[in-house]
Amino acid sequence: MTGVINTTQAELEKNGFKVKTVSITHLSELQEDIDKFHRQGLLDKQLSDSYLRFQYGTPEDLPGATIIFIIAVPQPITRAQFTWQGTTYEADIPPTYIGKTDDTRVKDILTSVLKPAGYRLARARLPVKTLAVRSGLMQYGRNNITYVPGMGSFQRLVAFYSDCPTERDDWQELKVMKACETCFKCLENCPTQCISTDRFLIHAENCLTWLNESEGDFPDWVKPDWHNALIGCMHCQLICPVNKTQIKKVADGPIFSEKETGLLLQKIPSDKLAEVTRDKLVSISANDWYEVLARNLRVLIESRLFTPHVP
Ligand code: SF4
Ligand code: SF4
Repeated sequence: MTGVINTTQAELEKNGFKVKTVSITHLSELQEDIDKFHRQGLLDKQLSDSYLRFQYGTPEDLPGATIIFIIAVPQPITRAQFTWQGTTYEADIPPTYIGKTDDTRVKDILTSVLKPAGYRLARARLPVKTLAVRSGLMQYGRNNITYVPGMGSFQRLVAFYSDCPTERDDWQELKVMKACETCFKCLENCPTQCISTDRFLIHAENCLTWLNESEGDFPDWVKPDWHNALIGCMHCQLICPVNKTQIKKVADGPIFSEKETGLLLQKIPSDKLAEVTRDKLVSISANDWYEVLARNLRVLIESRLFTPHVP
């Protein structure tokens, strides 16, 4: 294997990651993939204003960028525990949410190969799912979740620009998994019925993930027993046959005491929490979605949906 891209790939794969590269000449096509959905009226305005703030131009911190590395890092479900009124509850954080450690590992590996060769890196703020499908790293499912061979949807995506030579360009057509041609399990099991057969995009404005990542009260039509995760939703990923070998991958998360759980439910500002509690939140990236944590935790406790923990 020769060339800086192949060396980088070998280093990432040694750590269990998968990588593809695309030339930045495709950025306008990537933008068009997203704009097309806007023009077709398939993206809810509020949702797209919140989620789709991407930067398609050459990055300011790396004006000579030539290439984008898109990397998939395996990530399990993380199960945190909360004690409240004498009972300990488990609450899941789905794959993709926990960022810092994995993102740093990716950056360190890229830097270890690219920096000695005289090349630089900058984080890419792009629609990484679409980019990863365009690179052939993964394929879409009917539920619009993306799947990597051997990892299923249990992974996190990270993208970096570099100014190294574009030795390889993996850009290709968007693809949906073959398994979805004859399978409707996610559609049949989605509690909000936001997956349909008459369009590719799900009705994301009704997806539990959008609803529980957004602030404010849940709409009246959302039934309490639909909630199944501290953030996001695992229904369609757990039922998906492509994830069959992945769904038992669960990592132990932090344990919040009765006192800590009480403070979280009261939505005490995070800077007023003890450092040890803040560290626990950071370990599940809950500092990124602290504004919705109290509401999501409360609805899970009230619906008694998540399993009381039996030591
Ligand atoms: S549940 Fe079936 S249809 Fe849905 S993403 Fe998985 S394979 Fe595709
Ligand atoms: S994440 Fe949940 S609400 Fe969203 S499509 Fe999947 S099952 Fe439906």
